[in-house]
Amino acid sequence: MIRFEGVNKRYRGGFEALRNLDLEIGQGEMVFVTGHSGAGKSTLLRLIPLLERPSQGRVVVGGIDLSRLRKGQIPQLRRRVGMIFQDHRLLFDRTVYENVALPLIIRGTPHREVGRRVRAALDKVNLLNKERAYPITLSGGEQQRVGIARAVVSRPPVLLADEPTGNLDPALSAEIMQLFLEFRRVGITVIIASHDLDLIGRLRQRVLTLEQGRLIDDWQGAAA
Ligand code: ADP
Ligand code: ADP
Repeated sequence: MIRFEGVNKRYRGGFEALRNLDLEIGQGEMVFVTGHSGAGKSTLLRLIPLLERPSQGRVVVGGIDLSRLRKGQIPQLRRRVGMIFQDHRLLFDRTVYENVALPLIIRGTPHREVGRRVRAALDKVNLLNKERAYPITLSGGEQQRVGIARAVVSRPPVLLADEPTGNLDPALSAEIMQLFLEFRRVGITVIIASHDLDLIGRLRQRVLTLEQGRLIDDWQGAAA
């Protein structure tokens, strides 16, 4: 599903955030990316929807070599990659429903289809009863679940999450991880950057460890 071949990422200014990265992630895998702050976790994630481009090497997503993708094809790629952020980036002047609907509306999905998909996504994160609420009235865990609903509303085959539990207590973090496990169960590839080693350890999924931009460990996991 996703392949990195000899990927280097050097930012302007010369800093090497990723060094000679080779890895392969299969469809329906759930993979954690861990390492200290600055190890390159976000950079690795950002190469997949082409928010950044590698300085060397190539990234292949769903059989497509991203270096050959024309500019006009990038929106199509991003539609297939749902993104979840630590600060969830919700619009606070829109309701929960409107936040989740936004990716569909931007791309001109028919009205009735929007309603159906938004409710399916909210149902999955257990927030159907909050569709008319404003994010400010929700708890941190609920806000993050709205962010997740927005990421899955287009039913992308790949889900990326950058420190999705960074602001949550352990119980809520575990709840969010259960949601990711459910997505994995329906065949979605889930890649999560996190430094919460306790939480990661308990889930027994594959763990990639980065140190100063190098992949120093690839633990295959023990989950069925
Ligand atoms: P992590 O997610 O593991 O904390 P990042 O991928 O965010 O690591 O960052 C890796 C390194 O690259 C850090 O040293 C960071 O300062 C640097 N970096 C990240 N983004 C940029 C950027 N846009 N320009 C320059 N340097 C950057
Ligand atoms: P429909 O297939 O009629 O569009 P739904 O939108 O409710 O109905 O989705 C049906 C099922 O497809 C979901 O319950 C889920 O198991 C699965 N599915 C496929 N892709 C995704 C995704 N990106 N996020 C969540 N579920 C998905």
